[in-house]
Amino acid sequence: MGWVVARAEANGGFLERSELLDFHIDDRRFPIIDRSRGIRNPAIFASTLSIVQSVHGPYADTESEDGFLHYAYQAGDPWGGANNKLREAISTGAPLILFRKEQPNIYTPIAPVYVVDDDVENREFIIALDEALRFIPDVRQLDASQRAYARRLAKVRLHQPAFRTRVLVAYKRRCSICLLAHGSLLDAAHIVPDSEPLGVPTVVNGLSLCKIHHAAYDQNFIGISPDSRVVVDDELLAERDGPMLKHGLQEMHGRVLLTPDNPSHSPNRENLAWRFERFLARA
Ligand SMILES: [Zn+2]
Repeated sequence: MGWVVARAEANGGFLERSELLDFHIDDRRFPIIDRSRGIRNPAIFASTLSIVQSVHGPYADTESEDGFLHYAYQAGDPWGGANNKLREAISTGAPLILFRKEQPNIYTPIAPVYVVDDDVENREFIIALDEALRFIPDVRQLDASQRAYARRLAKVRLHQPAFRTRVLVAYKRRCSICLLAHGSLLDAAHIVPDSEPLGVPTVVNGLSLCKIHHAAYDQNFIGISPDSRVVVDDELLAERDGPMLKHGLQEMHGRVLLTPDNPSHSPNRENLAWRFERFLARA
C-alpha cells in the first residue's frame, strides 16, 4: 500500500495497469490487481488486497452520493470466495486499496479504504474512505453531520484525485502554461471553481498546471483568455526580481496554452471567459 501511494504520487496521482500486474516482493511476482476480476484476493491474505471500480463517463461519481462507495458483489455466488474475503475485512478492519479505473490502463489509487457493511439486499458492500467511519454503528442511518463529513471526505479523497488523473492524462502530464513534465509537481486546476454551479470536475473545466502556475492562476497573477492565451498581471510584469519571476512568470505572458490532443477535452471557452472576467476585474 505504501508503494502504491508513493508511486502514484511521484507519477501524478495514478498508475498504469502493467506496473500493478508486475509488482514484485522478494523476486516473486505479486500482482496488486487481479488480471481479470475486480477483486484481488491473494491466497495468503485473509481478506481482500484491492478492488477496482470502473468509471464510465465524467459524471460517474454517483456511487458516492452518501460519501461511501457502493461496491457490487462479484457475479455468481454471493457467499463465494471473492465476496467472502471482502466480507472478512468488515470484522478484521483490515484496510484495502480502491483503484478507480478512469480509462483503460489508468488507475487512481485511493488507500487505505475500509469495508464497513454488507448490504445483502442490494448485493453490495459499503466502503468507507476513512477509518473513523468504521466506528459508526449503522452507516445506512447517518445523522446530518456524519453525512456531511462523509460527503466532504468523498470530495477530497475520491473525486479530487480522480479529477487530477483525468486532467493530467488529457494533457499528457505537462503544465499547460510552461510544459513542465513532472507529474508530482502538477495539479488539476479548476477553471470555474467548484464552489460555483459551473465548476464541475470535468476535463473541459480543468487545466493541468504546475504548482507555481496553479497558485499564480488562483491568485490572479495570471489570467487565461477565452482563446487560450496567457496574460500576466501588469504590475507583476513591471517588477524586477530573480529568475523565477523573470523566466517562470513574466516570460509566460502571451504564450498560447497547451491543449489536449483530443479536441473534445480542450478547455471550455465559456468557462475560460467566466474566469477571465474575474481576472480582468481583479484588485
Ligand atoms: Zn507551469
